[in-house]
Amino acid sequence: MQDHGTFFRDAEPKAREAGILPPDSYDFYKALFEYHSARFSAYRALIPGLSVTEAPAPPVLAPGSVTLNEEASRALAEGLRDLVDIVARFNTGMSLEALRSAPAEGIARIAIDAFLSRDMEPLSGAASGYRIGFDELVFVALNWLKPFFAAIAATVRERVKDDEWFKPACPVCGYFPDMARITAAGEGRRHLHCALCETEWTYPRIQCAICENTNAELLGFLVEEGNARHRVEVCDSCKGYIKTVVIPKFQEPGSVDLTVENVLTAGLDAAAMEKGYSRP
Ligand SMILES: [Zn+2]
Ligand SMILES: [Zn+2]
Repeated sequence: MQDHGTFFRDAEPKAREAGILPPDSYDFYKALFEYHSARFSAYRALIPGLSVTEAPAPPVLAPGSVTLNEEASRALAEGLRDLVDIVARFNTGMSLEALRSAPAEGIARIAIDAFLSRDMEPLSGAASGYRIGFDELVFVALNWLKPFFAAIAATVRERVKDDEWFKPACPVCGYFPDMARITAAGEGRRHLHCALCETEWTYPRIQCAICENTNAELLGFLVEEGNARHRVEVCDSCKGYIKTVVIPKFQEPGSVDLTVENVLTAGLDAAAMEKGYSRP
């Protein structure tokens, strides 16, 4: 898992100057990204004792693949408490107090299988049970479990052969991509980036990253004036979009953090949605 906090700090002065995020949200993201790094280290230490069943073909993880032991349940409960604290500290407008007394292990089980199956219905039930907004619960669950899945992904990633998997779902966890990158140095290859476990995988250039449509006439992209670094690839078959970072020839792909780029390109989401596109 990349150290998002460092990338975010480096990008902060420019982003503030350009007014990319509300001024009071930078400290929240710094705390959130530091949280990811700290939890990633904590979960990595648990991985050897965790029972993970790998599917014979990608995605490597399927619903039921991850069995929580006592240690993992305790670590996840601690992770949830820390995250609820961060959200409470920064006036995010979210009220998650009900999660403080909730049985973390139960929510973890529901959320893990909801993400692995991409079926969010069980989380919707949990949200009304705790009187939390559905979007808020998904946001919290995603950020809570992201370092946990990233720790698992780090150990199983090598099972996936990059040139045998050209699907829009993550080959490790099956979840949706949140960003793409095109690397000039890598012969213009496109990679998708998992919104959950942060695995990156190769994906065809001329193919919708949501519905797999390959009809070039229905594919296009939106650009922002004066911004050659980003574009939004859109599909008129499914009306989906994905934000893309174009990495120039002399820049290493590792010098770009797509999780941070996703946060700092909120304006592109607004532009795409205004034109009638949405993302899963
Ligand atoms: Zn993934
Ligand atoms: Zn599409």
